[in-house]
Amino acid sequence: MKEFDIAYPIRHTPSEAELRQAAGRALGVRPERVAAVRIVRRSLDARGEILYRYRIQAAAPGETLEDYILPPYKDVRGAEPVIVIGGGPAGMFASLRLLMEGRRPVILERGKDVHARKADIAALNQQQRVNPESNYCFGEGGAGTFSDGKLFTRSSKRGDLREVLRQLVAFGASESILTDAHPHIGSDALPRIVERIRQCIVEHGGEYHFGEKVKGLRPFSDGLHRAWRVSCESGASYKARAVILATGHSSRDIYRYFASQGWPLGCKGFALGVRAEHPQSLINQIQYHGKFQPGMPAAEYALVEQVEGRGVFSFCMCPGGILVPSVTAPGEVVLNGMSNSMRNSPWANAGIVCSVEPGDVPDYDRYGVFALLEFQHSVEQAMYAFTASLRAPAQRLVDFCRKKDSQGLPRSSYQPGAVNAPLYELLPGFVYERLRVAFAAFDRKMKGYYTNDALVLGVESRTSSPVRIPRDPQTMCVPGLEGLYPCGEGAGYAGGITSSALDGILVAAAATTR
Ligand SMILES: Cc1cc2nc3c(=O)[nH]c(=O)nc-3n(C[C@H](O)[C@H](O)[C@H](O)COP(=O)(O)OP(=O)(O)OC[C@H]3O[C@@H](n4cnc5c(N)ncnc54)[C@H](O)[C@@H]3O)c2cc1C
Repeated sequence: MKEFDIAYPIRHTPSEAELRQAAGRALGVRPERVAAVRIVRRSLDARGEILYRYRIQAAAPGETLEDYILPPYKDVRGAEPVIVIGGGPAGMFASLRLLMEGRRPVILERGKDVHARKADIAALNQQQRVNPESNYCFGEGGAGTFSDGKLFTRSSKRGDLREVLRQLVAFGASESILTDAHPHIGSDALPRIVERIRQCIVEHGGEYHFGEKVKGLRPFSDGLHRAWRVSCESGASYKARAVILATGHSSRDIYRYFASQGWPLGCKGFALGVRAEHPQSLINQIQYHGKFQPGMPAAEYALVEQVEGRGVFSFCMCPGGILVPSVTAPGEVVLNGMSNSMRNSPWANAGIVCSVEPGDVPDYDRYGVFALLEFQHSVEQAMYAFTASLRAPAQRLVDFCRKKDSQGLPRSSYQPGAVNAPLYELLPGFVYERLRVAFAAFDRKMKGYYTNDALVLGVESRTSSPVRIPRDPQTMCVPGLEGLYPCGEGAGYAGGITSSALDGILVAAAATTR
């Protein structure tokens, strides 16, 4: 087997014959003697002529190309249950792995199924009505359902990404996610995929319970084994020897519950800042060096700058996307971004955030492990206090950096609306200063980025969890709490859809040993 790279102009999709020719050249054989050829990666290169670069695998005569085979799902009716709290990427992929292992997932999800959830999200955007159980973070598919659906993970140590991507394709995602260097699905396609995952789990004997907000977890002995009784606000309770806790970074009540039980928790650094929204045409102009043409993918960007020893970086960039209110309770303003599969809105948005560590907020020391959670919440409340609504305090970018009030705001994709505000005053001083320095530096990396045609809006604060639930690296359980498996972004072991899904798989494999 040989791996090699080839490149073609962006509008040209290589044919099978062209791939065979290239493979023949690489292997030193005639094209018809190439046993197999396939594209394993495709990445856009806009440095000179706009190209797609392809990584190709080719098999010489007598060889084969090894394929990844997804393990089959078993029928788990009557099998030992595992309770999975939270139906986000971590909970869903943990459940799918449980099916593969012959265990019966029982998913308890506080939110609604994806269709009912859509109505709550419409009410949030249009009437500013916040349903604390059904919003951009809570409900079927978790925070990943109405998102850009980017599928990157920086670490390959977390597990085999193919298990996640192959399943997403099997449930309806485009095959391009298997090869694209920066794969994404889009919020128009994700709900259907999430629904099919549920149907698969239920068809194989698993259970889904919506509207089941978990409020208590009690260990008990069933005579032979230690087990868990999980109680919900509805009054229902469920029992199992293993419980996977995959409640996401916004489930503050779960952290409070842990603290009330005296169970271990840790404070964890996270990142906070603003959402920057530029015209997508400007980002295309910059990233394609003036060579953008209709039909080319909306340009992305990733920026990072060290300021005072702390990283300031772009987060969850959404090309051709829109801004959304990702609040989970009344009285707060929180922004995030999402895109559809075509990424064809006129805007490009990204979180521009700086790392925040406990040492940055000494005034919050009194909150112990909740220091950063309280800090996070206080900034979200400060934004709300200014607008007294879900509208976001906003400024033009250059004005923000110069501490100058803006004269009118450009149009924004944020449906609840933007309010002209001294955002430079509303953000914590150290956050503002780091962002200010970074924005100017970003213009050196992307000439034209630093412009008053861009809007900055507050606040991007749900980048990751500000609390960690410790887990034993051997058993994957909370130390001292046998059978309780913290998992995904909320437990502090993942950030993003794919890493949360991979963590779910890892934890499910551990849970089946009980
Ligand atoms: C608008 C938006 C856009 C995003 N875009 C991207 C992107 O493009 N790419 C990317 O990689 N990441 C993106 N993210 C982040 C990504 O969605 C999360 O990292 C990921 O969903 C975390 O997965 P999780 O399963 O650990 O937690 P979550 O997805 O947060 O799921 C947790 C689930 O637990 C449920 N739950 C919480 N508490 C309880 C309880 N007490 N009882 C029962 N159920 C409970 C919640 O309702 C929720 O469904 C985005 C997030 C948002 C909000």
